[in-house]
Amino acid sequence: MKETLNHISPSFCAAKWLQVTIDLLHGTTHSCHHPARHEIPLTELKNNPSALHNTNFKKYTRNQMLSGVRPKECEYCWLIEDLSSDMLSDRYLKSLDTWSLPHLARLSNMPWDSDVNPTYLEVMFDKTCNLACAYCFAEVSSSIEKEMNEFGPYPVSNSGHRLVSSNRKFENANPFINAFWKWLPEIFLGLRFFRITGGEPFLSPSTRTVVNFLKRNPNNDLVFSINSNLSLPQKLINEFALLSDELLKNNHIREFELYASVDTYGAQAEYIRFGLNYDIFLKNINSFLKISPKTKLVLMVTFNILSIENFQELLADVLQLKKEYSSVLIDMSYLKDPGYLRANIATEDLVLKLVEIEKFIEENRSDDFEDGFSDYEIRKMFRVFEWIRKGTSEREERVNRSDFFSFIKEYDKRKSTSFSSTFNSMNDFHKACSYAKMTLLDEVNKIS
Ligand code: SF4
Repeated sequence: MKETLNHISPSFCAAKWLQVTIDLLHGTTHSCHHPARHEIPLTELKNNPSALHNTNFKKYTRNQMLSGVRPKECEYCWLIEDLSSDMLSDRYLKSLDTWSLPHLARLSNMPWDSDVNPTYLEVMFDKTCNLACAYCFAEVSSSIEKEMNEFGPYPVSNSGHRLVSSNRKFENANPFINAFWKWLPEIFLGLRFFRITGGEPFLSPSTRTVVNFLKRNPNNDLVFSINSNLSLPQKLINEFALLSDELLKNNHIREFELYASVDTYGAQAEYIRFGLNYDIFLKNINSFLKISPKTKLVLMVTFNILSIENFQELLADVLQLKKEYSSVLIDMSYLKDPGYLRANIATEDLVLKLVEIEKFIEENRSDDFEDGFSDYEIRKMFRVFEWIRKGTSEREERVNRSDFFSFIKEYDKRKSTSFSSTFNSMNDFHKACSYAKMTLLDEVNKIS
């Protein structure tokens, strides 16, 4: 399968054509969700609502891919592929998925500047969110927007990640939302996945609008998905569980997937995802799956430096859920931005913990993902661990560790949290970060 793909071109990835995440609030788009978002030019959108996806910039990167050039914005995959030729990057996983594989020949033969309908659409209607996660940013979380307006940027060398939000201003109604509702009926029957992201989608009125749209426009081939932090009142969760059950029972959709975000276990997960209550999170999962038992639950882990210490406990909870419900999966990616929370700046003692985690995963390997961890889940976890072991350059490690030290100090101050009492075995790492900051300051002093 890898050869089939590489025969088209060693940098070809169907996700650039068929998968899109659109932020309708700010008018940005990216394919897939790993590269940075770019603006949708209003001039391109004027007579062509498909410019929500088919921007000239995206067409340029598609042309690069067809010519065997690696677009820089897809660094997420190149870093994995360069670890070893055995590694399966998302370029392979996405291009060979059910929503892309049947289209490979068509895509590779069409002119590079053609407009293409996506088969996997992810959309953000608004950014209302009750959480303020450490790695998230103001463009997608109203809680972080509020924090940034109050306190301003963090004192890190590259403060570009967590900035005060830049909202686009429109003379009349939001043109991206208008274009979206015009475009959706055109592409709807070709869609295989339709996913709502946020913000917190269960807090957005647009999520109900979409559910009503699905009731009026059944699509038996469609997998409908919602991303959620599940740290919400149970009443609200139960309402949506009933809605999803109704959509499934009436065959308005083929499948419903609930993507629940969590990066490690207990108090440490609550530290990373500020505002999360881990117990409520688990209770809401149980409640949702009891009301809507055919829902597929995907636990979405963005593995970062703070995930390592208690990750095994999270895996134990995942196993428990797998035993109780028919369709529970863990899906893991590594955190790329901001660099100072990347797990590849871990000290040796933390890297060693990965061995225990891997052992636990192997002990619970299963051919059937309902009883344990499937090969698919394991490959995705292990490739992240390999990437961590590879580390990074000495310079990048020093800068990111130094920024980690500054970020956490400010984070604790703003949120009245305590890193040292939440992460009991990260003392050595914290000391290494403090040392990195000191040596960088020394360098600056010498130069000046
Ligand atoms: S190459 Fe990787 S980062 Fe780029 S679109 Fe494909 S899956 Fe996404």
